[in-house]
Amino acid sequence: MVGREGTVGYLNHDCEPNTFLDFRCLCVRALKDIPAGEEVRINYAVTEYEMHDSFRCECRSPVCLRTIAGFKFLTRDQQFRLKPYLAPYLLGSLEENS
Ligand SMILES: [Zn+2]
Repeated sequence: MVGREGTVGYLNHDCEPNTFLDFRCLCVRALKDIPAGEEVRINYAVTEYEMHDSFRCECRSPVCLRTIAGFKFLTRDQQFRLKPYLAPYLLGSLEENS
């Protein structure tokens, strides 16, 4: 089970993350080689529809979302760009509004 007590509870956000959550196996999958000591990060916008506590991102990525508030607050282009990594319940939301 993915939860606060599991691995996912310790992953920080990055708009250009080095991992994503694979909901088919409920596991974290690398998007690229991760050198020893590098922080493992995910994009919160692919798992959270509306975050309880939004925050300003300072990841410095050219695709930085700036304010991380949840999937609901992304533009349609941003939502579709994240489609391959979306949690199943957010994927449904994306398709309903197409
Ligand atoms: Zn960012």
